[in-house]
Formats: sequence, structure tokens, C-alpha cells
Amino acid sequence: MAKIIDGKIISAAVKDRVAKEVSKLKETSGVPGLAVIIVGEDPASKVYVANKKKACEQIGMLSVEYALPENTTNEELLALINELNNKKEINGILCQLPLPKHLDEELVINSILPEKDVDAFHPQNVGKIMTGDYDFLPCTPAGIMEMLKYENIEVEGKTCVVIGRSNIVGKPMSMLLLHKNGTVTICHSKTKNLKEVCLSADILVAAVGRPNFVTADMVKDGAVVIDVGINRLESGKLCGDVDFENVKEKAAYITPVPGGVGPMTIATLMQNTLTAFLKQNK
Ligand code: NAD
Repeated sequence: MAKIIDGKIISAAVKDRVAKEVSKLKETSGVPGLAVIIVGEDPASKVYVANKKKACEQIGMLSVEYALPENTTNEELLALINELNNKKEINGILCQLPLPKHLDEELVINSILPEKDVDAFHPQNVGKIMTGDYDFLPCTPAGIMEMLKYENIEVEGKTCVVIGRSNIVGKPMSMLLLHKNGTVTICHSKTKNLKEVCLSADILVAAVGRPNFVTADMVKDGAVVIDVGINRLESGKLCGDVDFENVKEKAAYITPVPGGVGPMTIATLMQNTLTAFLKQNK
């Protein structure tokens, strides 16, 4: 039976570390500030934004939320981002995705100053992740790397399989595993023989967005299984992409949903906001 990697405990340790630094800064140079923009009424996005705000408050950072109506135009959103780019007390800017369909996500991401881009979605930051010379790491993959480190799970030489090739999870996740000398395969919706590829994985990361997508027959005995998915079932219950009950009988380590990768994403966001503050106040 697998050891459960507890994202609540590990994220608390990260947040505690950040809070201690913030508390020291408070006495000298002020506190880091995060602006979170949300457009529209998406219920999941509202929950994520509320959790990010709560984390900032726990840590002692400034957090400012901008809740814009669904019919906000590109021009209005860009004007707000421009204002925040120029605000000294705001060190990090995050625009909650997905945006309503009429808005230009790429334009919005590109308009956030790279040094305030705490999600690491700006092409300049994405490029830096490729070279390994980065300021910010994308929050979800970096949170996963922190979990592996906390559990002393070695990546070097391991066969790593990432299911999903999105810009925010799959691709950067693969890159971070590669930087740690894993041998990485990225799978996606057009991958053939997915089961066989997954069975080769010492470390299997699922970022698909489909409940129970990864079943026990796709997992090697003793594998490390990281479940990034957040899916809401008709019953209202949250679940990941992995058939947790059956896979936990085969894996050596597994992350639960909820209480796994999700809290790590927020903890990394706090870390990134602190990093942004320190760089801007050098
Ligand atoms: P996405 O929809 O952008 O990407 C999904 C990926 O799954 C795609 O690359 C696609 O090729 C792949 N895929 C789809 N069907 C497949 C199939 N049959 N076989 C193999 N691959 C297939 O999603 P995303 O933004 O990367 O998010 C993935 C999941 O992770 C979602 O459930 C999302 O809610 C969740 N998520 C969680 C966190 C967190 O903090 N825990 C953060 C971001 C995303």
C-alpha cells in the first residue's frame, strides 16, 4: 500500500518558511503584495482565488483582489494590468484562467511584466524554464518537485511519464523533471499505447482533467503517482485523474485529491510572490 504524500503538511512547511521571511521584511522594507484578477463568475475560479487570498493573509502578505464583470473588454483588462505593472506595492500579478471566451488570453499573459508574472506564464519566463535559468517556476510543477524533494524521492535516472502537454502543467512539469536528470516522456491525447508507456514509469504524473483516467493496470508496482487533476463529480465530490483506491494498492507513493498537489500550487505562488518582491527591492 502506497505512502500518501500529504500536500497539506508539505505546503504548510513551505508557507511557514515564506511567512518567517515576510515577518522579517515587515520590520525593514515592507511586505510583498499580490494582485489577483478574476473575470466573470466561474465557480471553480472563485474558489481558487479565495484560497489564494486566504494564503496571503495567513502569511502576512498584501493581497488585492480585482473581481471584474463577465463583459469586461480586452482594453479594460489590459488597462488594469498596466496600472498594476506600475504599482510599487504590487510585486506579483495573477490573472485567473480560464478567461471568458471573448478575451484574448495570450494578449493578457503577455501584458503582465515578466518580473511580476508569478504564475510564470509569460513567454520570457517560459523560455527561462527551458534553459533552466529561471526567476519563477510555474506553481503547479514546482509544487510537485517540492513534494518529491520532501519525500526524498530521487528523480535522476528515473523513467518519468507525464500525461498531458498543457503550457501550465504538462510541458513545464516535463522540463523540471528533465532538469533533475529524469528520462521523460510526455503523453497526450494522440499518444498510442498509453497504457504501455505509463507502465514503464517510475514516476507518473497525471494532468488530464478526467476522473479515474489512470487505472491500476497502467501503473507499475512501486511507482510514484502524482495526481494533478481536479475534477468535480456530479455528486459534487472532488476527485483527481487517478483511480486512487485501486492505484494506491500498487504504487509506492501517491498524492490524494483533494489535499495533494492543489495546496502545493498555492504555496509556490506565495514563494514566487516573495521572490518577486526580493528581486524588485534588491
Ligand atoms: P488541459 O485541458 O490544458 O490539458 C489536458 C491534457 O490532457 C492535454 O494536453 C491532452 O493532450 C491530454 N489528454 C486529454 N485526453 C487524453 C487522453 N485520452 N490520453 C492522454 N492524454 C490526454 O488541462 P491542464 O490545464 O493541464 O489541467 C489538467 C488537470 O489538472 C485539470 O483537471 C485541471 O483542473 C488540473 N489542474 C490542477 C492544478 C492544481 O493545482 N492541482 C493546477 C492546474 C490544473
